[in-house]
Amino acid sequence: MNMHVNVGADVVANGRSYRRPEQPVVVICIDGSEPGYIEEAIAAGLAPNLDRLMKTGANTTALSVIPSFTNPNNLSIITGRPPAVHGIAGNFFYDREAGVEVMMNDARFLRAPTILAEFQKAGLKVAMVTAKDKLRTLLGKGLDFTSGTAIAFSSEKADKANLPENGIENVLEFVGKPLPEVYSADLSEFVFAAGVKLLNGFRPDVMYLSTTDYVQHKAAPGSEVANSFYAMFDGYVGQLDAAGCTLVMTADHGMNDKHLPNGEPDVIYLQEILDAALGAGVTRVILPITDPYVAHHGALGSFATVYVDADKVPAVIEIAKAIGGVTVAIPAEEACERFELPADRIGDVVVLCDRHKVLGTSAAKHDLSGLTEPLRSHGGLTEQTVPMIANRAIEIPEGRTLRNFDVFDVALNLVR
Ligand SMILES: [Zn+2]
Repeated sequence: MNMHVNVGADVVANGRSYRRPEQPVVVICIDGSEPGYIEEAIAAGLAPNLDRLMKTGANTTALSVIPSFTNPNNLSIITGRPPAVHGIAGNFFYDREAGVEVMMNDARFLRAPTILAEFQKAGLKVAMVTAKDKLRTLLGKGLDFTSGTAIAFSSEKADKANLPENGIENVLEFVGKPLPEVYSADLSEFVFAAGVKLLNGFRPDVMYLSTTDYVQHKAAPGSEVANSFYAMFDGYVGQLDAAGCTLVMTADHGMNDKHLPNGEPDVIYLQEILDAALGAGVTRVILPITDPYVAHHGALGSFATVYVDADKVPAVIEIAKAIGGVTVAIPAEEACERFELPADRIGDVVVLCDRHKVLGTSAAKHDLSGLTEPLRSHGGLTEQTVPMIANRAIEIPEGRTLRNFDVFDVALNLVR
């Protein structure tokens, strides 16, 4: 086995110290992996590797950042810090001065260096594979692909990977799989398959694998579709573990049913309610879950932020609080403090709703035609608890609540 030698100073990223690993460290973010998915697959006898690791290694939970959306959490994981530090609080914010809604899925919006970039600068080899390419561009910020010590690509654009931008080419051949569809379980499977190949070949010191929640948006824990996804995942977990690595798995957020008994999404159309009460054009509701891939969630999640003039903030809070299913309606300062959010990338009021409800703008603005199954989604406090599973025992300091963005700390500092 290619044992790496633990020499040199700790690597510091955003004020946190990480030990140099003695063997490769692999961190996996299983997108939307609500607690229960893995346990149900194990109960069905479909995940023997995870079953074994969870008994001999570590099996606990951690809290995601709020909003419990994909990008804020992936960026928190890769920087080890909350959105207040890295600046990515969702997929959209409203630029008050320019008067436009701005998509935040570009690397220029990221304000903090990544743990991977700092490890590469410290002379270690790093690798990253994401399902979607936009996330790869964000998470890959600061990596230098000219030195042969970094590889980063996405399943989505695996066929376009090239040496200057990804540190690798001919990825389809390398992984031995065809280019997967964007809306498919295969997009995530490609990530795992690539991870196994990279671990055995490139042998990175630190690797990050991040999947897509296509399956979790459609299928509940224990369902046939979910179980077959986790059975597939389990096979790769076994291969990664056998290849010799410290393997730690977490999720960006959980996932819950968000529909009525008849299968229709259970939506609070917040913009409609605010317009009716205060007049059209007085408020602007932004749903930071909105992205170019809305088919599986219709841009409906359990977190919204409202932009409004300061004198109307109390009125918006009062109206929102009176809506059945709204659990949190607080001014921005309080939300930034409580959820560690960047003040300039969030509205004036933050609204969260209950486990089985979602927040929308107005009915006409949501294209729900892509929802082929009753809505499952995320974004709120009820999707904040996620798994933290390792193939080695971990020692958590007394009284410390683990966050999902502690996953590199767990993998590099807390494993025994
Ligand atoms: Zn996600």
